[in-house]
Amino acid sequence: MTKYTPMIEQYLSIKAQAEDAFLLFRLGDFYEMFFEDAIKASQELEITLTGREGGMEERIPMCGVPYHSAESYITRLIEKGYKVAICEQVEDPAEAKGPVRREIVRIVTPGTVMDGKTLGETKNNFLVCVTSADDQYGLAACDLSTGELFVTKTEDTLEQLVDEINVYAPSELIGQPELLDKLQSSMSGWLTTKLFTARSGMDEVLFESQFPEEERQAIPSVSRDAASLLLSYLNETQKRSLSHITHIEAYDRQQHMTMDPFTRRNLELTETVRERSKKGSLLWLLDRTVTSMGARLLRRWIDKPLTSRDAIEQRLEAVDCLYNGLIVREELRQQLKEVYDLQRLVGRISYGSANARDLLALKLSLMQVPSVRQLCISSGSATLRTLGETMDDCGDILQWIGDAIAEEPPVSVREGGLIKAGFHGRLDQLREASTNGKKWIAELERQEREATGIRSLKIGYNKIFGYYIEVTRSNLGSLPENRYERKQTLANAERFVTPELKEKEALILEAEEKMVDLEYNLFIELRNKLAGEVKRLQLLAETIATADVLQSFAAVSAAYRYRKPELSGQYELNVEDGRHPVVEAILKDGSFIANDTQMAADDGRVLLITGPNMAGKSTYMRQVAMICIMAQIGCFVPAERAVVPIVDRIFTRIGAADDLVGGQSTFMVEMMDIRTMTAKATSHSLVIIDELGRGTSTAEGMAIAQAVIEYLHDRIGCKTLVSTHFHELAHLEETMPALRNHCMAVKESGQDVTFLRKMIRGAASTSYGIYCARVAGLPDSIIDRAYDLLNRFEAISSVLQSPGEAAASVEEALRQNETKPSSPLSAAVQAEFPQPDRVMEVSPIVQLSL
Ligand code: ADP
Repeated sequence: MTKYTPMIEQYLSIKAQAEDAFLLFRLGDFYEMFFEDAIKASQELEITLTGREGGMEERIPMCGVPYHSAESYITRLIEKGYKVAICEQVEDPAEAKGPVRREIVRIVTPGTVMDGKTLGETKNNFLVCVTSADDQYGLAACDLSTGELFVTKTEDTLEQLVDEINVYAPSELIGQPELLDKLQSSMSGWLTTKLFTARSGMDEVLFESQFPEEERQAIPSVSRDAASLLLSYLNETQKRSLSHITHIEAYDRQQHMTMDPFTRRNLELTETVRERSKKGSLLWLLDRTVTSMGARLLRRWIDKPLTSRDAIEQRLEAVDCLYNGLIVREELRQQLKEVYDLQRLVGRISYGSANARDLLALKLSLMQVPSVRQLCISSGSATLRTLGETMDDCGDILQWIGDAIAEEPPVSVREGGLIKAGFHGRLDQLREASTNGKKWIAELERQEREATGIRSLKIGYNKIFGYYIEVTRSNLGSLPENRYERKQTLANAERFVTPELKEKEALILEAEEKMVDLEYNLFIELRNKLAGEVKRLQLLAETIATADVLQSFAAVSAAYRYRKPELSGQYELNVEDGRHPVVEAILKDGSFIANDTQMAADDGRVLLITGPNMAGKSTYMRQVAMICIMAQIGCFVPAERAVVPIVDRIFTRIGAADDLVGGQSTFMVEMMDIRTMTAKATSHSLVIIDELGRGTSTAEGMAIAQAVIEYLHDRIGCKTLVSTHFHELAHLEETMPALRNHCMAVKESGQDVTFLRKMIRGAASTSYGIYCARVAGLPDSIIDRAYDLLNRFEAISSVLQSPGEAAASVEEALRQNETKPSSPLSAAVQAEFPQPDRVMEVSPIVQLSL
């Protein structure tokens, strides 16, 4: 019977430990993949599939990548959402009996990447773990590259858990298999994460050894389950110290404003809906941070607006001080610019992957801390002063690195050149021996040139032959017989050695080898010593990041003349001259039209907004949400004056672009969102619905719209902004005391229309749909026909509404309605929409209304 070779047997037994991962099996200078892995990897990575004898009749499919360039292949597989298990040779092949012993040393997964391109500098890379017990869900989110770990729990519905997972935009989600199954069905497309299931169960022992007792006790048990499951997954995949995960940040979800995934997307908080790019999002606008840590923290702040008035006020106080104190702000920015990514440096230090340049970056960063600290303390802001006072400048750490690490060390830690002169006596001796040896050689070269009279004689070195004396062929004649021992013949030169030269060479090489080893050991010793200080460095990193975000808020606020919001703590929302921050910034030319918003419990709690497409309704509604979010993250707001409440939750039902993702009908999605809204909104929530009731028949749509508005108005009492095409709903103002009709002002001259972008009281009378179609460049024949049909419909409906009148009045009504021939656009409208194409680009709604 044929059998696999011992090496393939070994491969198979190791592969069994990582079945869901590509196994990169180290064979000499290559990482090889076999069987199914090889077939799949050759397709995914576009590398050649070959074969190898494995003891059986058929050759085994195989493909491989050189070990020195493996990083980029691993990154590509991770980016495609795969896991990669790295299997190394763990004994010296020379000493091995049978196949060399091999082991998996690490499993890289999307959520556990430590370096490389996959890791965006300004974005956390979260691994999220979820668990459930007794109608509660636990969640733990960890960024392995920075060592941050957050835990929380949610009660009752799965939707809340989905909302919370979404806050982290995880690149990998793990957890109990049944729960993951449930989640997968409710995530319908917005979370493009692969689900992985942790194999081992909870590992309490590991969890206990990682965190101190008080920290563990303070966490609810379902969150502890999530954290400990996450930790055992990390342990299983990373197979090394996780000592940089020093702290569990447990939080209550109520501390933050809740937003569902659609709301986050619709408001374009961190990326735009259409291009999914940062540019054009609120994050893009607010990001004037100068450190990567600050950029990551800013993103987290935007993802989690606060609900505690004190906490918000603290941030605003600091922003106010930096807003007015241009000099302090600029100095702070300059100092912070010199600070590297402390969190990831620290991650690499405790992971054992930091090189001497990383330590140097740490040193340069620490050198800035005393002045940053001083600036914060003397800024005049109480928040910044407290921040400065908690900044540990880690002077001892700075000194350790400063004493030991050379000014310009190489990338590799195995080639010497890492340690400064004067740091270690033995190292200095070895260096001297090597330097003296080299001096001796230079002297020998000089002497030999003199003795032989050959001016081009030189002493060189290569790795194979060591030191040699080289004489060009043309000079060989002048070389005395038997002066040197012949070593190597080249095309136009001869190389020689002497016993003395060989002796010196041995001394030099020995000293250099020892030097490199010693430098490496000294470096590792220092790195380990620094690893013991990670907690201090992490705390420092956090304070630096906070200072960076605060200065970023102040810088943006000053640039766009934002104002400090007043947190009323009451129901009212009162904004004077509010603007949409991103639309305003993109328009650049100051042409954005500001609008007021007044919403009180008994007046304007519900704003019913009518008006044509493109008039600015949706921008206006988003603007209100943006102002609330900006205030609650502690930033100034785009308004002349803003008194804002603290909103517990924002719901939006806007746009259609994303509805298609889940394969559901637009109307069904709308209804499902509205169900969540009605179930979850409180009187402190803000609800925004764009074009309520579209997507079904007019009568039904209108009926549902009215019923929903009544429910929100009468039962929930939340602040509500609704835009609708159903002008007929305007009558609701008569029966609903807190509802107010608003519309976007439009100037008509002849049949041309100019959008004034100004919100006014009252209801609009028409939606100018055909007008928009004309602006969008539809053929005149379609436009004419549409006006014609509209006239007919309106005439018929007016007759139907008064059936007592004669049938001939349809014709009469048609004549009266006959007012809309097509004509060229007026200059005013052309200025508004210079080219039809641009209109299409600006508003998807125009397209939809066609
Ligand atoms: P609607 O929801 O009424 O169809 P949008 O809110 O989508 O209209 O606005 C259409 C376009 O008009 C926006 O893309 C924006 O460029 C411009 N716009 C909206 N509001 C304003 C404003 N207040 N000032 C200037 N331009 C605006």
